[in-house]
Amino acid sequence: MTEPSQVLIVGAGPVGLVTGIELLRRGVPVRVVDRSERPNPHSKAIALWPRGIEALARFGAADELHRRGLVLRAQNYHSQGRRVARLSFGGMRRTRYPYALSIPQQETEAVLRETFRALGGAIEFGTSLTGFTQHGEGVRAELETKAGRTTEDFGWLVGCDGAHSAVRGVLGVPFRGSSYPQQFLLTDGPARTSLAHDEVHYFMSGAGVLVVVGLPGGLYRTFVSAAPDLPVDDAREAVQRAASERCPVPIELVGEQRTGVFRVHRKVVDRMRVGRVLLAGDAAHIHSPAGGQGLNTGLEDAASLAWRLAGVREGRYREKVLDAWERERLGVARAVVGDTDRQTRMWTMNGWRARARDAVLGAGERSGVLNRVVVPRQAQLSFAYPGPRERAGRLRTGMRLPDVPLDARRDRWLRDELGSTAPLLLVFTGTGKHRRDVRDVAERFRRKHDDIRVTIIDNSTKSTHALLGLDRPCAVLVRPDGAVAALRDPFGDESELARCASDLAGTAAEAR
Ligand SMILES: Cc1cc2nc3c(=O)[nH]c(=O)nc-3n(C[C@H](O)[C@H](O)[C@H](O)COP(=O)(O)OP(=O)(O)OC[C@H]3O[C@@H](n4cnc5c(N)ncnc54)[C@H](O)[C@@H]3O)c2cc1C
Repeated sequence: MTEPSQVLIVGAGPVGLVTGIELLRRGVPVRVVDRSERPNPHSKAIALWPRGIEALARFGAADELHRRGLVLRAQNYHSQGRRVARLSFGGMRRTRYPYALSIPQQETEAVLRETFRALGGAIEFGTSLTGFTQHGEGVRAELETKAGRTTEDFGWLVGCDGAHSAVRGVLGVPFRGSSYPQQFLLTDGPARTSLAHDEVHYFMSGAGVLVVVGLPGGLYRTFVSAAPDLPVDDAREAVQRAASERCPVPIELVGEQRTGVFRVHRKVVDRMRVGRVLLAGDAAHIHSPAGGQGLNTGLEDAASLAWRLAGVREGRYREKVLDAWERERLGVARAVVGDTDRQTRMWTMNGWRARARDAVLGAGERSGVLNRVVVPRQAQLSFAYPGPRERAGRLRTGMRLPDVPLDARRDRWLRDELGSTAPLLLVFTGTGKHRRDVRDVAERFRRKHDDIRVTIIDNSTKSTHALLGLDRPCAVLVRPDGAVAALRDPFGDESELARCASDLAGTAAEAR
């Protein structure tokens, strides 16, 4: 039975499942429907980047994902048979996960389904959304199963129904962009090769790209681009041929291989919110698999939506926070489409363009730009939301709250302080002589405000202050999705701290 304020989530892919988990753990009743009869058996995404892992770690899934995954340490670019650049993931700072996790998408989804069910959720497979209308108080949805059609009322509808989204179609929201001419072929399975198993290898040539990535269990993904008109009767044979032509190191596909042939597009919607209907994940943006960004971007759409939707539903926030979500996430989606497009074009350059690309990559490695700038961007750690730019040390508004250890044994980490619903006020006492006054102000504030979680980071954690570049006292307001909302120097002034916290409440409620 549906209660009219329930949230209907269409699609039990990774984005629908994370939306469901994040809403359930905030006490919001949801229904999750998926038109497939059973879970997706295909391994599409294989790379989880640190920000994606952090999003899943928030509800306790990190250990299980690591148990099933393989840590990838570096990414290599080869051209004309020689390596032109190497990106090392280990240099990523201020995250607990300085690597990419290789884990087949169906494994990630299995972990998410377990988490969702443990929270009391049920997935209705074999149930399609066929249409809906909006009225003042909610959404009237038509759902179809083998047993027939029903019409049911919901408070909100979140379309996580993938690239061919029916929700987007009913809304009539344009999906603007274009498609790449090439086709792409992949195999997942055992291979004999001396290529490092815990690294990503790109081999670029005028004929196309070859990508080799280690998978858990000693397997490899081997992935190639091919001419649009190449007849592909046997994908495994075509991948083997391209691998032998494009890679100077022998790769022999052995044993059973899962194969796939697909086309790639770059498209973004104009809108992610129309009234009480929201679009997230591939329903809102699709791009080339270059850099493994799609799933990761969708996970953050979900994490960043759920706390706002829960707050709006409870009347704590105004609906404007959902427009802010749309603005922020459309900005990220467009940036990701741009980045993956550049990388995809780079794969197949010829002649002087290829030589220039190789020179730029080589110079990027030597100068450290690839490790300092490109890796954190690919890991989505450096994406910051727009808004007023306040700064303190290494912190600035709009950025993801960095994760740094709070004790010498590295048992406690800063992002563990994030609550699920309440905003977090972090008060750094600084290392100077007034730190006791700052602590007193923060303690008094904590006693007065039980709707904001307050954590005081004092001088015993000098290294935490140093890692964040903070030598002065500082109050940092953090949204429930882990984005920094406001920064203030609260030294000795309780009213300044109060203003900071009411800013946060305002920031969350009024939207930025
Ligand atoms: C080869 C390949 C490699 C990739 N590699 C990476 C990678 O390494 N890293 C990365 O981040 N991303 C990668 N991606 C992208 C990633 O797979 C997608 O971004 C991700 O699956 C999107 O998740 P989603 O939940 O939005 O949509 P989907 O996974 O497509 O799920 C949508 C769900 O909605 C259901 N549905 C559809 N219509 C309806 C309806 N009318 N009613 C009910 N249910 C419906 C579908 O059955 C499906 O289960 C890759 C993609 C491909 C193809």
